[in-house]
Amino acid sequence: MGVPVRRFDAVIVGGGGAGLRAALQLSESGLKTAVLSKVFPTRSHTVAAQGGISASLGNVQEDHWEWHMYDTVKGSDWLGDQDAIEYMCRKAPEAVIELEHFGMPFDRLENGKIYQRPFGGHTQHNGKTPVQRACAAADRTGHAMLHTLYQRNVRANTQFFVEWMALDLIRDADGDVVGVTALEMETGEIYIFHAKAVLFATGGAGRIYSASTNAFINTGDGLGMAVRAGLPLEDMEFWQFHPTGVAGAGVLITEGVRGEGGILLNADGERFMERYAPNLKDLAPRDFVSRSMELEVLEGRGCGPHKDYVLLKLDHLGPDIINQRLPGIREIAIKFAGVDPIKDPIPVIPTCHYMMGGIPTNWRGEVVMPKGGDPESRVNGFYAAGECACASVHGANRLGTNSLLDLVVFGKSAGDHMIDYIRGEMPDWKPLPADAAGPSLARIARLDNQTGGEDVAEVRAAMQRTVQSRAGVFRNAANMALGVEEIAAVAERAKFTQIKDKSKVFNTARTEALELDNLIEIAVATLVAADGRKESRGAHAHDDFPHRDDENWMKHSLFFGEGRRMEYKPVHTRPLTVDYIPPKERTF
Ligand SMILES: Cc1cc2nc3c(=O)[nH]c(=O)nc-3n(C[C@H](O)[C@H](O)[C@H](O)COP(=O)(O)OP(=O)(O)OC[C@H]3O[C@@H](n4cnc5c(N)ncnc54)[C@H](O)[C@@H]3O)c2cc1C
Repeated sequence: MGVPVRRFDAVIVGGGGAGLRAALQLSESGLKTAVLSKVFPTRSHTVAAQGGISASLGNVQEDHWEWHMYDTVKGSDWLGDQDAIEYMCRKAPEAVIELEHFGMPFDRLENGKIYQRPFGGHTQHNGKTPVQRACAAADRTGHAMLHTLYQRNVRANTQFFVEWMALDLIRDADGDVVGVTALEMETGEIYIFHAKAVLFATGGAGRIYSASTNAFINTGDGLGMAVRAGLPLEDMEFWQFHPTGVAGAGVLITEGVRGEGGILLNADGERFMERYAPNLKDLAPRDFVSRSMELEVLEGRGCGPHKDYVLLKLDHLGPDIINQRLPGIREIAIKFAGVDPIKDPIPVIPTCHYMMGGIPTNWRGEVVMPKGGDPESRVNGFYAAGECACASVHGANRLGTNSLLDLVVFGKSAGDHMIDYIRGEMPDWKPLPADAAGPSLARIARLDNQTGGEDVAEVRAAMQRTVQSRAGVFRNAANMALGVEEIAAVAERAKFTQIKDKSKVFNTARTEALELDNLIEIAVATLVAADGRKESRGAHAHDDFPHRDDENWMKHSLFFGEGRRMEYKPVHTRPLTVDYIPPKERTF
């Protein structure tokens, strides 16, 4: 029985900010473009972004893209690629103005220009004083951005496949990417999407942790597909813990709260960040603030009956600022923490938030892998952008508001380079390999016929417990070694999961089982990569190697699924046009 084939010039997997920005570029150029999404595009996780998008517009205070670049390199703890960082920061003002012209409803200053708020690690004069660089639409910036981009795509005739789940990448005998297989979730049918070029924009994978600010759909499918297709994952040891997740609930309270003047307090009522970061205080970068909070708790200065969280105080901002600039936050605090921040502080703890690693790309959005002595040979026809990609602009730690920026800058760049590739190198479709859908059909058949296995939810919970306890804010060699063994055992169990209830919710259960395959690949990559890195850098805080070791470890890690092995490749220290920013001690 043949699997039906649909043909497009470009196929984009993911309808979040990155996927929609790339799709817009392709559709507007006249190429036939499909966007596949597990959910309606405007329900992608981008919609949840609260705080803002950075650009050195200088609307409130003097600012320059070179200062933004410096902050990003320092924020990345010198693991970010300086060519990609330069490209992103230089393009930022243009990207934000473009969104404004698309109709995005930014908050305004009295003079009509876009309002900008302070954010963690954003400074003037290379670290000297804080600067207001984050452009925002109240505390619903991602919502405004995603709806704006969706509407532009409707106008440009992008073809949407809503509630379609991509299952596997199709590579031909040359290793070139020629399409994907996908499941139509409503009917359970499998299709082949045959494409001249494919872009992954599948977002993050925070669901490998048990406590996460991420949506339930953030299962890292693009990374799972890449690993199964023999491609490596870059820098998977680096996961960002956001300092202010609501304690016990995981829901995010934006850093914009501290940008507007909110402060963190311990059980003694002390503003402890003054001790750890005398200059930037509560607005030091996230890895720094999260570690400081954990230390306060570990040293017995946590709040609450179990002394296991700290408090975020913002009542001193007054009801006007809170209602005008942070209305969604007030709602979240009332619903999830049972406190009204106009009167009482919010209990918060560091919570898994963002994946710095991902599918290796360059600043053009092309997926790269080591081949024939070249550490970054292009994989023809394959592109990635957004949180699933590792360009790498965030290095070992992302600065707040740099992700929304990453989506539009690299979404557009990837779109442009796909257009060049399709028009210049791939005017016709490469033939599909024989049995292109074979691996996906086998996965589905395995699930449908499995008996006597464990339930998907049980195995998923075991995976989440392992990652949460073995790859947290602070790590050590013994704990990570245990984690590597435990996750290998969980991965074995995942091979035999069974869908027990095959009644009405069958396709939902099937989707969850297929997502688990992807989560497991990422959990394994995270633990193996973390166990491998013998230094502390950015979000990877290793108790046995407490210092950054530039001599031996200023390099990106690459995890390969086959044999679960690690390779390493150099950081791009050369920017595109400006001078290299050499490593320094990271104090704030
Ligand atoms: C609560 C929260 C607040 C945040 N606030 C900010 C902020 O203020 N500023 C900032 O810069 N960053 C913020 N971030 C980070 C930022 O929002 C994300 O990194 C970014 O939105 C990811 O965008 P994306 O386009 O890569 O993916 P997403 O928006 O996550 O979209 C992924 C898309 O891929 C689709 N998909 C996934 N797998 C498949 C599959 N197998 N088949 C088909 N479709 C698939 C999904 O349906 C979805 O459409 C925040 C993140 C969170 C969780």
